Amino acid sequence: MQQISLVAGAGGFIGGHLVQQLMADGHRVRAVDRKPLDQWYQLFPGAENLSADLSLRPACQKAVSGVTTVFNLAADMGGMGYIESNKAACMLNVLINTHLLMAAQEAAVARFFFASSACVYAADKQLTAAIPPLKEADSYPAMPEDGYGWEKLFGERMCRHFREDFGLQTRMARYHNVYGPHETYFGGREKAPAAICRKVAQAVLSGSNEIEIWGDGEQTRSFTYIDDCIKGSLLVTAGAYAEPVNVGSSEMVTINQLVSHVEKIAGVRMLRRYDLDAPCGVRGRNSDNTLIQSLYDWQPSTPLIRGLEVLYRWVFDQLKRGS
Ligand code: NAD
Repeated sequence: MQQISLVAGAGGFIGGHLVQQLMADGHRVRAVDRKPLDQWYQLFPGAENLSADLSLRPACQKAVSGVTTVFNLAADMGGMGYIESNKAACMLNVLINTHLLMAAQEAAVARFFFASSACVYAADKQLTAAIPPLKEADSYPAMPEDGYGWEKLFGERMCRHFREDFGLQTRMARYHNVYGPHETYFGGREKAPAAICRKVAQAVLSGSNEIEIWGDGEQTRSFTYIDDCIKGSLLVTAGAYAEPVNVGSSEMVTINQLVSHVEKIAGVRMLRRYDLDAPCGVRGRNSDNTLIQSLYDWQPSTPLIRGLEVLYRWVFDQLKRGS
């Protein structure tokens, strides 16, 4: 019998790419998202596509029925601008993971993947821009990003205890700033790479040459290209290691350097205005990939400039088409 994978959050950015990859690998896919199908970022007719609110237990029970592997990527989330002002909404994601775990355990699902985040890392390990890369152990003693990060850390803990107490084979990846085509690029939930691509593309299309940057632009991050994120997630899901693993690029840049990359791709130089009151998150963050490299002889490696080229062209085309 062909195995069925459930992708929860399939109407979103990473979920859509995961559905595509699983189908390319020959899996049957049940794709579920609370958004109506016409709002999904990518819709694959070959999948079983369902609109359902997975914060509700009966919806989770229905979604996992007959499924071998659950990928939980469903979450109410966005970039810093969203998560810093929607902490309660982000914490309510706990209902999705809780009910999916309970349903997966009841249905004796073989593997359960949880999309965690670098936002679980303790604030005091991220105080300077030239920060040492974050190792998995740096999430404790716990002081994660308020709201969103606490929910992810709790979600990880719950996955661990469902494994220890009930034998459900849970796996967890900590994503670091994933970017690529089909991600949110406007509306308030967008993250830095898509926001900067949009601002530069809008300036190019309108003939302006100004860009607004949140903070002083010297905060550091690493950005993970979507193809690397999908590859890493599948390795973590299939692997034997059951504790959380970083799935993130280790190519750290400042936001100013990110802007310079996009300017280079677009062939423009922008006048930079800095909004020092805008939400910026932690001062520095990078991914230590020692663990994933040692476990699976692999780590995310798409150069930022190469991934940004693809994202910028995609955002530019969307704007030009007026969508
Ligand atoms: P996304 O917002 O594009 O996708 C999430 C999807 O979940 C959305 O389509 C949304 O409608 C759906 N959803 C929300 N609540 C739901 C519910 N109750 N029932 C069913 N579906 C629901 O986000 P993404 O960037 O694709 O992120 C996927 C996962 O990866 C999330 O768990 C996110 O927290 C995690 N993550 C993402 C990043 C990143 O940089 N994109 C970084 C760290 C962690």
